[in-house]
Parts: sequence; structure tokens; C-alpha cells
Amino acid sequence: MATVEAPTRPKIRVHEGPFVNEPLTDFTKEENARKMRAAIEKVRGQLGREYDLIIGGRRVKTTDKIKSLNPAKPSQIVGIHQKAGKEHVEPAMRAALAAFETWSQTSFEERASLLFRVGDLLRERKFELGAWMVFEVSKNWAEADADVAETIDFCEYYSREALRLARTELPVQMAGERDTLLYIPLGVGAVIPPWNFPCAIMAGMTLASIVSGNTVILKPSSDSPTIAAKFVGLLEEAGMPEGVVNFCPGAGASFGDAVVAHPKTRYIAFTGSREVGLRINKVAADQAPGQIWIKRTILEMGGKDAIIVDADADIDSAVEGVAVSAFGFQGQKCSACSRAIIDERIYDKFLEKLKARVEKINVGDPAENANMGAVINEGSMKTIMGYIEQGKKDGRVITGGAHATNAGEGYFIQPTVVADIPPKSKLEQEEIFGPVLTVIKSKNYDHALQIANDTEFGLTGAVYTRSREKIERAIREFHVGNLYINRKCTGATVGCHPFGGFNMSGTDSKSGGPDYLYLFTQGKAVGEKKI
Ligand code: NAD
Repeated sequence: MATVEAPTRPKIRVHEGPFVNEPLTDFTKEENARKMRAAIEKVRGQLGREYDLIIGGRRVKTTDKIKSLNPAKPSQIVGIHQKAGKEHVEPAMRAALAAFETWSQTSFEERASLLFRVGDLLRERKFELGAWMVFEVSKNWAEADADVAETIDFCEYYSREALRLARTELPVQMAGERDTLLYIPLGVGAVIPPWNFPCAIMAGMTLASIVSGNTVILKPSSDSPTIAAKFVGLLEEAGMPEGVVNFCPGAGASFGDAVVAHPKTRYIAFTGSREVGLRINKVAADQAPGQIWIKRTILEMGGKDAIIVDADADIDSAVEGVAVSAFGFQGQKCSACSRAIIDERIYDKFLEKLKARVEKINVGDPAENANMGAVINEGSMKTIMGYIEQGKKDGRVITGGAHATNAGEGYFIQPTVVADIPPKSKLEQEEIFGPVLTVIKSKNYDHALQIANDTEFGLTGAVYTRSREKIERAIREFHVGNLYINRKCTGATVGCHPFGGFNMSGTDSKSGGPDYLYLFTQGKAVGEKKI
């Protein structure tokens, strides 16, 4: 720890040294498995509690409630939340605007110091937060642990980035002047996350907002409000002033839409589906009465990610990469591999090995650490099953293809591989967001690249090949925001793989990268004549 002087508080603690990623927990070690089991039992004892809206530090109750259920056991209520309606937009905005008056005047060091404290608290509660994700979104232990680790990374990374912005180098100096460029906050942001990285993405957009000096109305997903409530609790414990983050679970179509449309909303940080992202973009583009700025939108959306396996690839390694990318967290990652594009010379061999690998995946209760848990909710289960039925018509299901009824009462679906899917068909073009992998046969590498690029999306992609020339071509021609070579296409790591997609996958905002905080600030250039 080092000490930095700042104007508003006498002593501010910041971490020294370069950024290092939080290590992932090895659950094959009995000590770690024991801690996780203990955390799961602790959280099990706290299920079904009620949580309030937090507006300007005040706890608010509503008549309407959101019940968050355990997807693996829908009869089990994880948390009961108040449901913010349109009438809560104005109070939340007033609280955020009032807090902005003072928070925007704090130094980068003071705000970075808050993030370092949050990171320390997250490290202490790592297993517990992971356990909440096991219950609320059906993540297995490793997936839940990675989600918390990424959240810690965001604390450590964005706080260091804020300190870097505080020390921004001077621009070119005009003779006779002192010229500076300052990065100042934008105002009140609407932070609208999805449920699939219920801690990391929700926290990442919130932390980037507040370390940059903005204040926030945070509307978590109705499928994962409890994890967000736990995180906001940690922010308060770490000393966040009232009103800096206003916690408002609510329906997207009513509360979310109204926050986006509010004339005082300065920016929207959204991660979610293509449809909702485009809707937000449209609503934000309209100038509401009294609105004096162009709202900034930071929109990260869906994917239809492909892994190309060339004829010269290490097939075993490619099979492993495809299986892990397709079925990790039930395929519910924007980065999930939903298309495997396989050269015709190795197609049959690849399918045989893939089928054997996928059939080793066990589906069941993530509290017992099954490989794959349930999909998020009933609606999602129905949509995914609809795609599987379509797949039976358009291709050949080589494994899976049904509900995993033996896994329990929850929304369990077997890991499903549909081979012989033609390019441009529904399953090849649309985001499924579930444990369904389509396999497409390519004639050669040119054909594989053409298929890979031929969707509306452009989020992640991977290529397995031993050829340097083909790697270079992928770097030039495979049009995705996050490209991987000879490895899986999921698991972007903060700092190493700044994350964000092209085309309908979003605004390529590159979270966890050196450009990210600029999106939450505006540059003010000052030219001062020396007198
Ligand atoms: P979603 O679009 O249904 O919901 C996302 C959020 O938007 C939720 O909080 C929801 O309540 C809110 N919302 C819904 N309608 C709204 C409206 N009209 N106005 C304002 N807010 C509204 O997405 P989801 O099901 O939560 O998440 C899955 C999607 O997220 C997938 O498409 C996935 O690819 C995408 N995703 C993208 C990334 C990325 O970095 N590109 C990361 C994770 C998830």
C-alpha cells in the first residue's frame, strides 16, 4: 500500500505495483472444495430474504416484487426484490444528480481507493459471492469463481487506469501557454447489465462509471438481482457515499426504458441482447424536452461465435476447445462457440471425437458442482428447445437434443450437437444462448473464413491451425472483436483480452482494456496564456 495526497480527504490508500489477474481457485484441492461447500451451506441458509431499492442511501419498498428463482430448483426463491416502476425514475435521478455534485469533484485517487477497498472485500467474500451465483444463475463452482475473479480484476484494473488518467501527459505546449487535457466525468449513467455475468459485467460497468466520477442508476437483470444487491452492499461497506450508485431492480420495458429516455441521463452502459441494445440506441437518440446533450451509448450485445478447425489442426486440442467454449455455463456466454466450422477432410473424425467428449459432460445441480447446470429460466428453456427442434429438421443431432430430465426439476437441457447445418440457416445465423452447438462443413480455409464472417455479429472467434500463413490470414480477415488462435473462444481475461465486438455485437467498447475509461469521461482541453 502507498499513500497519495488528495484534496478532499487527508490520506488515501492505493495499491502499488503492476496489475496482476486474480488467480482462479483450484477446486481439486480439498481445502478449497471444503470452503466452497461451507459457503454454499451458508448461502442456502439465507435464501428467500427480501432486498430493498436503494435510492440516495434510502431503503425503499414497493408493492410489486421481483422473485428471483434458482434455475436448478425453481421452487426455491433466492431473493425477493422490490420492483422499481416509472415513478421511481425521478427520485433515483434526483439522488444521482445530487451525489454527482460532490462525487464528480473528488480526485481520481480517492475514487480509485474506493475500488481497491471493494477489491479487498471481494477477495474476503470470494466463496460466498460465488455461492450466490450457484443458486441464482446456476453457475458451477469454477464458472462462479471466475466471475468473482473477473470482478476483482475490474476493481484492480480500473483503479489503476483511473490513476493513469489522473497523471495524463501534457499535450503539445504552445509557445507562451500552459496547455492541459483533463478527463472529467460525464454525469448520471444508466447501467443496465445482463444476468449471465451477474457479478462481473454488472460490477464492471458500475465500477468504470464511478471511478471516472459519474453517478449511476443501476438496474440489474430481473434474473440476477440478488448478486447485484450483494455487490451494492459491498460498495456501501467500502465507504461509497450515498447516491453514487442507486440500486433499482425493475422491468426493462418500463423502468429501464424510462431511465434511458430521461433527459438527465447522460449515458447508458448496457450489455445484453441485440434487440434491447438497438432499442436503447434508438430511444437514446431522441432529444427529450430539457435535454442538452447527445446521450452516449456503450452497447455490448450478442454473438454467433465460430471456431474454425483447419485440416492441419491438432484435432484433440480443437475438440477440447470447441466443447469447453460451447458448453461452459450451458452455452450462455456472449462469447460461446455456437458454430464449429470444420474442414471436410477431418469432419467425420472431428465429429466422432467431439461426440465422445460432449457425452462426458454431466448435467445436474451446480450446488453439487455438476459440469453443466440449468439454463436461466423457463422462457429461455422453451426458446432453446425450439432451436433444437428446428435443428432436427435442418441438420443431424449427434448427441443430446432433449431436456435432461434426470437432472431434477430445473431447466436442464442436454448438451446438444447438431451436425450438417447449412450456412445461412436459422441455427447458423441466430444467437441461441444455450447448450446447442451447430457444426458446419467447410470445403477449405477460404470457405471456412467466408462462413465465419457471414452473420450480423462479430464478437469472438477462434481458429485451430498449425499454419503460420493461415494464422496471419485469420488476423487480417476474421472480422471479430476478440480473435483467438489455437485456444477456446471464451474466457477473455481483464487486461489481456480487452473485450467487445464488431457489427451487431456492439460498439466495441473493449471492457478491461486501456481505452475503456475514456468512454465514461469527456476530455476538456485548457489553453492558458502565461502572464
Ligand atoms: P436482455 O437484452 O434481455 O437484457 C439485458 C438488460 O436489459 C436487462 O437488465 C433487462 O432488464 C434490460 N432491458 C430489457 N428491455 C429494456 C429496455 N427496453 N430498456 C432498458 N433496459 C431493458 O439480455 P439478457 O438476456 O439479460 O442477456 C443475454 C444477452 O446478453 C445475450 O444476447 C448475450 O450475448 C448478451 N451479452 C453480451 C455480452 C457482451 O459483452 N457483448 C456479454 C454478456 C451478455
